[in-house]
Amino acid sequence: MMYRYQEFTDGIHNFNDHLLLSLHLCVILRNALQNHTAVSRVMSILEATAKAKFPSKDTVLHAYLHFEALSSHVYSYTCINCGYYPKVVIMDLHKKGVFSIPFSEIATPPSDFKGDTNIVSFWESVTMEMIGRGFLSSGRKNPFVVCPSYDCWAPWIGPNTRKSDIVLNTEHAKLQKTKSCDVPDLDVTEERLGDELFNLKVDAVRKLCKECGLDTKGSRMDIVLHLRTEMQNRSAYDKIFLQIWGASGG
Ligand SMILES: [Zn+2]
Repeated sequence: MMYRYQEFTDGIHNFNDHLLLSLHLCVILRNALQNHTAVSRVMSILEATAKAKFPSKDTVLHAYLHFEALSSHVYSYTCINCGYYPKVVIMDLHKKGVFSIPFSEIATPPSDFKGDTNIVSFWESVTMEMIGRGFLSSGRKNPFVVCPSYDCWAPWIGPNTRKSDIVLNTEHAKLQKTKSCDVPDLDVTEERLGDELFNLKVDAVRKLCKECGLDTKGSRMDIVLHLRTEMQNRSAYDKIFLQIWGASGG
């Protein structure tokens, strides 16, 4: 049997038997995040103050997330005007929560998938990934990694606000839409074509870039932005039109 030190009464959080954080630092990092300051920034400040090099920013972030994953949290946020159930919800893009994943790498969901996702088990699986990182011997892959997919991803809605633990994830509806979008549309503006470029798979974007004689290096977003600029040029515009609508670029 193996004994792992995971007490907190001494004021220490053990991440992986190598990196130990004081609870004080963990609380500083939590308060920093709640005041819009990233963990990496706090670490830069502490390094500059201590004139010392600390473990990599990612390692410290993982150690901090390990602490949070093992802490119990109470989420009881309620609006002073509408309580737990606002009558109107205004949606906005949470840009910091955006990450890049090639469209082509996301598997098509099972045909009977209707979008029902268990919010509790999904976020528990994310917690398990964070905890799992503390137990890996070097070079081993975390067996608890959560791979985003259409049928395995849930939004976060507070326990008092959601109707039940089963919530809707309707991302797969976009997938079906993209696939059936092969009807030529005669009213295509340059702007709309530019927007459609963002829906192309990364391979298609690279191929298109080659055909237009552009550099295919860089992220998908870099290439798409190149192509958008290149659309000012008539022949590039026609090629992009052909690729997206499969119709003649008249
Ligand atoms: Zn409100």
